Amino acid sequence: MLKLLRIDVEKQHFLFEELSPEYARLGGRALSSSIINREVPPDVDALDPKNKLIFAAGILAGTGFANSSRLSVGSKSPLTGGIKEANAGGNAASNLAKLGIQAVVLEGRATGLTTLKIDADGVSFVDAGPIKGLGNYQVIEDLKKAHGDKVSIVSIGPAGERQLKAASVSVTSPDFYPRMAARGGLGAVMGSKNVKALVIDSKGAKGVEIKDKPLFKAAASKFTKGVLAYPMIEGLNALGTPILVNMINGMGCLPTRNYSVGQFDKAHQISGEHMAELMSKRPNSVPGHKCMTGCVIGCSNVFTDEKGEVIVSGLEYETIVLTGSNCMIDDIDMIAKINWACNDIGVDTMDVGAAIALAMEADILKMGDATGALALVSEIREGTDNGLLIGNGCKVTGERLGSKRIPHVKGQSLAAYDPRGLKGTGTSYATSAMGADHTVGNAIPNPLSQYDPASPKGQAEMSSFLQIYHAAIDSLGICLFASLPALDFADLQGHIVQGVAALYGETLDRDYIKQLGIATLKAEREFNTNAGFTKEDDRLPQFFKDEPLLPSGNVFDVSDEDLDRVNAF
Ligand code: SF4
Repeated sequence: MLKLLRIDVEKQHFLFEELSPEYARLGGRALSSSIINREVPPDVDALDPKNKLIFAAGILAGTGFANSSRLSVGSKSPLTGGIKEANAGGNAASNLAKLGIQAVVLEGRATGLTTLKIDADGVSFVDAGPIKGLGNYQVIEDLKKAHGDKVSIVSIGPAGERQLKAASVSVTSPDFYPRMAARGGLGAVMGSKNVKALVIDSKGAKGVEIKDKPLFKAAASKFTKGVLAYPMIEGLNALGTPILVNMINGMGCLPTRNYSVGQFDKAHQISGEHMAELMSKRPNSVPGHKCMTGCVIGCSNVFTDEKGEVIVSGLEYETIVLTGSNCMIDDIDMIAKINWACNDIGVDTMDVGAAIALAMEADILKMGDATGALALVSEIREGTDNGLLIGNGCKVTGERLGSKRIPHVKGQSLAAYDPRGLKGTGTSYATSAMGADHTVGNAIPNPLSQYDPASPKGQAEMSSFLQIYHAAIDSLGICLFASLPALDFADLQGHIVQGVAALYGETLDRDYIKQLGIATLKAEREFNTNAGFTKEDDRLPQFFKDEPLLPSGNVFDVSDEDLDRVNAF
């Protein structure tokens, strides 16, 4: 069985622990949330050394099961004050699992900025002085040069070192592009521990032991076939997540001008279709890029300029909307540059994008000013007043600027789906312990279902169902896009359960996924309740209830009673 690696960064001491009964058979979000709930005092300041930072490999990480090696980063969040898990692709989780590590737990605060090298010999504590203050791209280059190109690198940029509330954690893809565990300010927690980077090297590792290999292989193969047969996978591979721009705009739910309207008249300019056209003409652009080894879909991209120079990888839907339509910016190349700057500085493009829109509403810069937005993001690195303001995310920015229209829940900005037309998603935004995430329970209708996203009725049930499912998927380490086919086809869920059963060499309950999801959500809710959250925190900002969304005229009218029924286990 995999172990827990506890690292006291202050004492420069590490210990491999057997997973205690409470943590056994957990991974990813389930494990990180369970550790936080059991071991972090709920009232502790998120940047206090008593907070812990967890890097947990998904249950199926490193096994070869398709798309299943996501890394969960968990802690008490400096942005929300509640429990937080943000996950990312890349190969870090796979390498940890191969080293026999289910999760790394960082404790204390190092006396000087430190890089942790984790390999088959244990942990080495390396002075990070030479990479202090560097952006993620240079950190990755330097550490790759020092440790070779087979390692995975987890790092923070200057925003994490400054402990800004929107700071993210970067995790490298196999080809060393950063993928971000962006939400909740977890980069600030890493900065508060004085840890600049983790270098994970699985050379010489034994790999993950699979108890029943034939059964595992059969389950993995059926799951892959089922995923690849799912209708939307081809489009996702061709256009990536930006395929959603035209789709959500068509539904009238594309956040535009700080969530003022649901359609952007320049949506085509920032759409997946337009990007694909540009990329087909630009040297070195890569559609269908894979963020981790074992991905069978390839939803990401490498986006280049006309000369073939990489601007950023990957340029995703959420970033395009929050730094694009929501700021009235229609220049996809400038959005890509803003994305690169956010990745390098190490901030969440969504919270910072929402903060820029608020700064635009307050006339700090003009709506649609892409050059000004890029310069403002660069100010985070420089540490100017305005840079520090937006680097602390949309809630801090909006409150400082006196806005009455701050799109956040529990301190975290909303994602790229307007909740007035997508009320199931809005219900998940409101009620998740994590704040307004899109990955916790995004209720987007598909042609195979009769679901009405604009009705105020039935959203509590839809959101509860999705939140349970995605909590389990985040724990298994499976990426969201590979999990979608299994929502429509129950036999695919059966293959996932069979894969885990074969991994452990045990029989699992038919309700395994549901039980895993519920246990995870319960731990998260318990932590937040002990931290002082009440049902009043499970609400959307008032302006979503008062201001009709044009052109549909929808408001968010899911009742408080329904919101209180979500996740009431
Ligand atoms: S489908 Fe996309 S997010 Fe999922 S593993 Fe592949 S590239 Fe990463």
